[in-house]
Amino acid sequence: MQNSRNPKSQSLKIEGIKDIIAVASGKGGVGKSTTAVNLAVSLAKRCQLKVGLLDADIYGPSIPLMMHLKGKPELSNDRKMIPIESYGVRCISIGSLVDEREAIVWRGPMVMKALEQLTRGVDWGILDVLVIDMPPGTGDTQISISQRLQLSGGLIVSTPQDVALLDARRGVKMFSKVNVPILGILENMSYFKCPKCNESSYIFGQGGARKTAEEMDLKFLGEIPLEMEIRSGSDEGVPIVISKPDSVISQVYGNVAEKV
Ligand code: ADP
Repeated sequence: MQNSRNPKSQSLKIEGIKDIIAVASGKGGVGKSTTAVNLAVSLAKRCQLKVGLLDADIYGPSIPLMMHLKGKPELSNDRKMIPIESYGVRCISIGSLVDEREAIVWRGPMVMKALEQLTRGVDWGILDVLVIDMPPGTGDTQISISQRLQLSGGLIVSTPQDVALLDARRGVKMFSKVNVPILGILENMSYFKCPKCNESSYIFGQGGARKTAEEMDLKFLGEIPLEMEIRSGSDEGVPIVISKPDSVISQVYGNVAEKV
């Protein structure tokens, strides 16, 4: 991947970081953070890259829980935050810096100020890739982030539902507006496989994200089913690519890591 992919963006290039990938969704609760976590860990473990994970979801930072991060980042001699390493990924969360209840009313400039601190005020070291868990939505805040952090690419997460796909389309437009290449659409909660009879139920409809990707001439990155272990792993701080590295689901995340 090359940073020159996005030459028109106003540069906020961070020393030592080769590529920045944003994981975005049109709305909350579709599995954006789950994707960011499993993608980051796959990039580190499977692709053997030096990976950072920045939780920029000011409305509900969930990376500390999902990555089992304890305590606050320590400061280096030059007063930069030292990321907390977990599963081979260097993590920083906006949750360690601000009070969620306060941040929820922040507008773009405030968010950008906090994010500048969370990017350039961090001793990331040398990174092949920094994965950003974006705030959900496609408003000014998300546009500011996309524009100023010189993203190498954006990945969109959506459920198969029509309403979610409508939001996903807005996400695609948002990245296009600021010349950020779209890496593709990953469908989450695609189906539920009954553990007793093995039958798949397409609870939110079938094939929606694939069709949207095709219509928009984007890569379709795969389907992640609704799976109890994804949810329990999130709550316990053990991503599924760690607890079940050989599962079909981990394979899909691995393929996404290899594709982006
Ligand atoms: P977002 O970042 O889009 O708000 P999250 O990744 O935080 O969404 O996911 C919301 C909740 O849904 C979390 O509790 C997470 O564990 C759960 N979840 C996400 N994807 C799946 C899935 N494929 N199967 C089961 N639970 C999931």
